[in-house]
Amino acid sequence: MDTIYFDNNATTKVAEEVLEEIKPLFCDLYGNPSSMHSFGGQIGKRIDTARCRVASLLNCDPSEIIFTSCGTESDNAAIKGAIAAAPNKRKVITTRVEHPAVLAVVRDLENLGYTVVEIGVDKLGRIDLTELERQIDGNTALVTIMYANNETGTIFPVEEIARMVTDKGAVFHTDAVQAVGKIPLDLAKSHIDLLSLSGHKLHAPKGIGALYVRKGTRLSPFMLGGHQEAGRRAGTENVPGIVALGKACELAMRNIEIENTKVKALRDRLETEIMKTCSDCRLNGDPESRLPNTTNISFEYIEGEAILLMLDRYGICASSGSACTSGSLEPSHVLRAMGVPFTAAHGSIRFSLSRYNTADQVDFTIEKMPQIVNLLRKLSPFVPD
Ligand code: PLP
Repeated sequence: MDTIYFDNNATTKVAEEVLEEIKPLFCDLYGNPSSMHSFGGQIGKRIDTARCRVASLLNCDPSEIIFTSCGTESDNAAIKGAIAAAPNKRKVITTRVEHPAVLAVVRDLENLGYTVVEIGVDKLGRIDLTELERQIDGNTALVTIMYANNETGTIFPVEEIARMVTDKGAVFHTDAVQAVGKIPLDLAKSHIDLLSLSGHKLHAPKGIGALYVRKGTRLSPFMLGGHQEAGRRAGTENVPGIVALGKACELAMRNIEIENTKVKALRDRLETEIMKTCSDCRLNGDPESRLPNTTNISFEYIEGEAILLMLDRYGICASSGSACTSGSLEPSHVLRAMGVPFTAAHGSIRFSLSRYNTADQVDFTIEKMPQIVNLLRKLSPFVPD
């Protein structure tokens, strides 16, 4: 049975081109870029190329990119580094729908005496911008708001928010882990100070991330030690990871059009047909402002986990809630923040596609979904008579 992988917001397949690019770095070109000899020195050039490629995708200067170990580290480094650099300000603002890589960090700051404000969202998952503006004051060190939500795909008006935040003198960070490579970003035109991204969401391997730090943004280093990354992130570089991320960003630049045409068309067809053939379901997220690859649908009266298990029998991989929270029986904090009723939140499934998906895979899933939903509803004690 072939695998049909619709869980690309959890992680992605490493692109063949990325794998080819990094193969020589394990047994042939394995030097340490900090070494004085030319064997190590040649590695430094590959890191430079990777940095330029990441910067090209974001349209920023290569010196504004710091390599990290993952999206979670980038988020931690941005939040902790920005507040450490502004010791006189004691307020941090975020939203209720952030990934745990942000929410856990800001909630921990509360224990350290910071005032933490979590802005709510409406039923489409849109942020209350008036409330956000009202909350930003002279005591606000940092506002951190994700670019696009990992569960629903909702894209937030981050450029507008960044302008509002920086005009009021606070630092603005965005967790763009789900946005980079899926939608075009242009940091040269933006007011974003700090931006996190993660390699394994865009066809590079796991264990590599990056943090964009706008020139002039005050940021205390999160990892102390050696002088790597110009003293901004200590630790011997993950050279294969860095080179892989560079190559993945180069490929993403080439493929961004495909993400927004072919992948979007596949997602739209999957979503439309499922909504048509399965009764009592609802779309979660903002249909007007959404990642092109993501759809999140709630099916009343049945458990998302049961749907996942049945999809799995056909080799179809999807997700209920985010990968990081699945395994817990709590319904998704994102859907709860949107006011999705408890029963619908429990029956939600996220399909997240990539350029490697095909029309045949979508057609197969469209055929199986109503069969699965109808079977589970027959067994469900919650379906009204
Ligand atoms: N932020 C968002 C929005 C994510 O979706 C994820 C991963 O799912 C992360 C951060 C964490 O990234 P990583 O797995 O690279 O630590």
